[in-house]
Amino acid sequence: MKKTGIIFGKFYPIHMGHVDFIQKASGFVDELYVVVCSDDTRDKKLFEESKMRKMPTIKDRLNFVKGIFKYQNNIKLIHLAEDGIPFYPNGWKLWSERVFEVLLQNDIKVNVIFSNELQDVENYKNNFLTLPNFEKVFNKNLTIQTIDINRDNFPISATEVRNSPYHNWDFMPKPVQEFFTIKVAIIGTPHSGKTTLVHKLSNCYNTNFVEDYKKKYLKKNNLKNLEEKDFNSIAEKYQKKILNSVKSSNKLVFIDTEFCSLQANLMEFKSKENEIINNFIKNEDFELIFYLESEKKTDKIKEFDKNLKEILKKNNKKIVILKLNNNNFTEIYNCCLRYINKMIE
Ligand code: NAD
Repeated sequence: MKKTGIIFGKFYPIHMGHVDFIQKASGFVDELYVVVCSDDTRDKKLFEESKMRKMPTIKDRLNFVKGIFKYQNNIKLIHLAEDGIPFYPNGWKLWSERVFEVLLQNDIKVNVIFSNELQDVENYKNNFLTLPNFEKVFNKNLTIQTIDINRDNFPISATEVRNSPYHNWDFMPKPVQEFFTIKVAIIGTPHSGKTTLVHKLSNCYNTNFVEDYKKKYLKKNNLKNLEEKDFNSIAEKYQKKILNSVKSSNKLVFIDTEFCSLQANLMEFKSKENEIINNFIKNEDFELIFYLESEKKTDKIKEFDKNLKEILKKNNKKIVILKLNNNNFTEIYNCCLRYINKMIE
């Protein structure tokens, strides 16, 4: 007979302790259902009490689980909406009824519940096995199996992750790290040392950077000048490079120039803004933009700076202006560190 297991959790967000628990549980059964529970009011409150920079929605939380276990077909995913039920532990009866309905709808029959909450073991049995027609969903010999109640393998809780995501970085599975990676763009006056600053910062934070793809594009295609169609290709490729780089970054990713700068480059020879690039600008989610500004500027560079600042303003992008003077490179570097450390501490 097929053996089916189930694990309930908020997985808000899923961490390595959960992953290890799910992996171990999956070895005891033919199929394992991971039930991701949500309650809009509770989840919003937990977010507000947390130090997370953005709120993982229930869709994000389901996607994290899906992504982590995508190569294991016997691990299946279910969403359980708990809205309207009194919060744990005050709603066991109503909660059990809701679980029953969802499992019945999905035609799931459970032999074993895995939980690392010792205090819940008896509650699961008492509430599930007293439901009318419980045997439609729960085997009458239902067992509750604990695996690592002391969290010996990964001593972490989701509360700790929410309260200090960047200190608990190594407890986050890759899709969760990807979600919390902070994108920092370095833009500004041409020839102001943006690329060097990007290299310095990515070295200091031991993470990835995304190069200014415009330069590479010119070289790769053996071009002296760019036409408008080139800008569209550059923007698309640039976006892909950013997404790719976030996948393996260490808390931060540094981006050499961004889409507003690309638009300002284009405006050097086109009077009208490019709508494709405008779309990229609208969708970009850089959390920190440093604007390096040189003292000495030619008229052409002044024009570029003016255009770029107008585009940034129009798109409500907040920038930190770093003024370059008397080779104050280390001062600028230290200033960036102060801003960044504040974000990740
Ligand atoms: P959770 O995401 O915190 O944990 C999920 C599971 O992982 C738990 O079994 C937990 O013990 C285990 N775990 C956590 N950290 C671990 C680690 N480091 N190592 C190993 N295992 C670890 O979710 P939760 O809060 O336990 O989820 C229970 C869900 O069931 C909630 O959504 C809750 O609302 C719901 N529930 C509600 C009621 C009610 O009365 N309303 C009753 C029962 C259950």
